[in-house]
Amino acid sequence: TQWVYSFGAGRNEGRADMRNLLGGKGANLAEMASIGLPVPPGFTITTEVCTHYYANGEQYPGELQAQVRAALARVEDAVGLKFGDTDKPLLVSVRSGARVSMPGMMDTVLNLGLNDATVEGLARASGDERFAWDSYRRFIQMFGGVVLGVDHHRFEEIIEGVKLDRGVVEDTALTAADWKTVITGYKEAVQEATGKPFPQEPEAQLWAAIGAVFGSWMNQRAITYRRLHDIPAEWGTAVNVQAMVFGNMGEDCATGVCFTRDPSTGEDIFYGEYLVNAQGEDVVAGIRTPQPMSKLRAKPGERPMEDVMPAAYAELVRVRETLEKHYKDMQDIEFTVQQNKLYMLQTRNGKRTAAASLKIAVDMCREGLIDQSEAIKRVAPGSLDQLLHPTLDPKAPRKVLSKGLPASPGAACGVVVFSADEAELRAREGESVILVRVETSPEDIHGMHAARGILTTRGGMTSHAAVVARGMGRPCVAGAGGITVDYTAQALSAGGHIIRAGETITLDGATGEIFIGSVAMIEPQLSGDFAALMEWADKVRRMKVRANAETPLDAETARKFGAEGIGLCRTEHMFFDPERIGAVRQMIMAEHETGRRTALAKLLPFQRQDFHDLFRIMAGLPVTIRLLDPPLHEFLPHSDAEIAEVANSLGVDVALMQRRAADLSEANPMLGHRGCRLGISYPEIYEMQARAIFEAAVQVAKETGAAPVPEIMIPLVMTKRELDITRAQVDRMAAEVFAESGTTIEYLVGTMIELPRAALTANQIAESADFFSFGTNDLTQTVFGLSRDDAGKFLPSYVEKNILPKDPFVSLDVEGVGALVEIAAQKGRGVKPGLKLGICGEHGGDPASIQFCETVGLEYVSCSPYRVPVARLAAAQAAL
Ligand code: PEP
Ligand code: MG
Repeated sequence: TQWVYSFGAGRNEGRADMRNLLGGKGANLAEMASIGLPVPPGFTITTEVCTHYYANGEQYPGELQAQVRAALARVEDAVGLKFGDTDKPLLVSVRSGARVSMPGMMDTVLNLGLNDATVEGLARASGDERFAWDSYRRFIQMFGGVVLGVDHHRFEEIIEGVKLDRGVVEDTALTAADWKTVITGYKEAVQEATGKPFPQEPEAQLWAAIGAVFGSWMNQRAITYRRLHDIPAEWGTAVNVQAMVFGNMGEDCATGVCFTRDPSTGEDIFYGEYLVNAQGEDVVAGIRTPQPMSKLRAKPGERPMEDVMPAAYAELVRVRETLEKHYKDMQDIEFTVQQNKLYMLQTRNGKRTAAASLKIAVDMCREGLIDQSEAIKRVAPGSLDQLLHPTLDPKAPRKVLSKGLPASPGAACGVVVFSADEAELRAREGESVILVRVETSPEDIHGMHAARGILTTRGGMTSHAAVVARGMGRPCVAGAGGITVDYTAQALSAGGHIIRAGETITLDGATGEIFIGSVAMIEPQLSGDFAALMEWADKVRRMKVRANAETPLDAETARKFGAEGIGLCRTEHMFFDPERIGAVRQMIMAEHETGRRTALAKLLPFQRQDFHDLFRIMAGLPVTIRLLDPPLHEFLPHSDAEIAEVANSLGVDVALMQRRAADLSEANPMLGHRGCRLGISYPEIYEMQARAIFEAAVQVAKETGAAPVPEIMIPLVMTKRELDITRAQVDRMAAEVFAESGTTIEYLVGTMIELPRAALTANQIAESADFFSFGTNDLTQTVFGLSRDDAGKFLPSYVEKNILPKDPFVSLDVEGVGALVEIAAQKGRGVKPGLKLGICGEHGGDPASIQFCETVGLEYVSCSPYRVPVARLAAAQAAL
């Protein structure tokens, strides 16, 4: 078996696509060397050695030692030095390198091969005594820390002591003699900490370092990191051994890390830092201030590499181009300049912000490096969300108050208010407000609309606050359990801070963080690159994207973001306007049908206007309107004072009101008198809504000459019979309105599939349905038996403990809920091949769930207006 792969000096046994065997670093070193870039020669010990090591009681394969010797000999030949030689010693670096980069693993030992004798050889060969002793102390420090486990503070103390003695600040001011003093101290520290002298034998040093890399694969930090990032232990890590090049040999030497484009903006500019006369770890250690690469990015007083080392910089610019042409992606590279000659030590695809990811994908496509489908695949759909809302300026100072769930993205800043009415009042006066509630209910809608952001201390990712805020595009942090809200005192408190009504806070809905005071923000940009990528995505996707919207504002936002219709209009959200809620309450309070009909008659014109507006805004695009769904008690006033107020306004007595409220209260309202069950108990409600829809449609047909095709949707159906009964109500109203108006329009009647029984009997239900829309919020709730309003308290810990891979209310549970969706789709289409299928639960905006919807062959997904671009991109990726 080949356990060792050489790279550099004309012998490249690996390639970039061999990262499973060679790890990311090793594979890319070989790749860079084979495309002619200057890579110091070396070799990679494969990840299979790591696996073998752990499968065999921490023993190496028998052939390993010989293969390492042979590979090392090739390096010696290539550079004309010998490992352990006292005249011309070869020094090597030893680095770990897994398939994916894993911070927290043992990383690097530099200058390995130095000892009391070879350091003299290095001094003579380089003609630079200071450099040699500096390298030796670096080696003891790194080897001591990483391999021998000596606390790094010990080394720092020693260096600081010597600097203090000499009265210098920078390491570069220390002389060879100073470094010798440091080294004496270092050796004592090693002896003290390990009970043994610092190892002098280079071969022993090498094997100890290799052993430390493999050992680090099983250290606690690495295990935790793997668990958090789903990295299997079987992958193992590789070890890279490479001839040292020196950035610390003088003023014509340097070391640096950089990105081929700006990783925060995506701008096509060489971005990074370098340090003259330094080794790799100095750049990150923060002892000296690294300098910029490009003149364009240099501030006054800085010394960009472009000016200081023009030749090496020009070479690096060529390398940058070669790498981007070759890898076709932005690279994150490490380099060293030794006596004006450039060497490449690492390359990998660079991490970047959402904004950079978008810009780089679009730019690279325009530059001809990648095609449109590749550009589409390069951008994580979920990251677009960040680009559609104002975001916190990453450079702005901030002070964290507390943290909750990142329920709806975007940043918002405003004064704290504790009630919806107060939010509305202050917003009307032009103030930016943050509505803070323990939790929100449908009665708070007007306040949520008025607020810039919403903060709740209870509830999960599908709590009322989260769903509604996402729908409105309001940033929201939900379930911030660390905050206590005191409505009476009009104050909130967290971690010893008290914030009173009227004081300012800032929310980051993308991270769930809450800050004291205001934090500066950056506005979103919807044109340019964003628009270009969206256009490319639209060309390749199969599924349509609709929006969940009920207000004209939401519908307009949805269209602006490219929605191709409304997939869910939750009519109950139209009932909370101050001028309507009275009639709604009157309807609920009525004990008999006549009373209800009187109240409903007052609501009819409002509903008709609502639908009229939606049809006009959507201009011929499909509009799915769901008839009333939630339990009636949601519309009732809660406090005694509120009950009294409503009783008064209705002219009934308080006792009656209270009795009726008590009658309506349910132990488990989510599974109670709601959905089509209401339409069956009180047919007049659905009749009013259906009439409003048809009258509005007829009116729009007359106004515009183009008739909308309403899709009327019955919620929470569990049997075909329920759909038959409610459908008959709708059909009857259609016939009435068409007869009255002399105009007939087309319409569809379908149902939500949001209960397991409906999914399992979808063949029966399909006989009476023109379409299905999967209500995966309720379907998840009922399949898991998890209350969507309460699960937020413990679900995060389920995810942390790996009991569930993700919050099933956020990302569709393919195995359980998804299986029911598939069954229902199959059974439904079995009866009606042309049955229209869509999804309108929160999952309709989740990229992984959208991928699943593509595999089931749904016609469309429907999501919050602000997620429409996310869904367009995700649907395109799913289709590729
Ligand atoms: C659902 O249950 O998935 C759905 C879309 O309806 P709601 O969230 O209004 O219950
Ligand atoms: Mg539902």
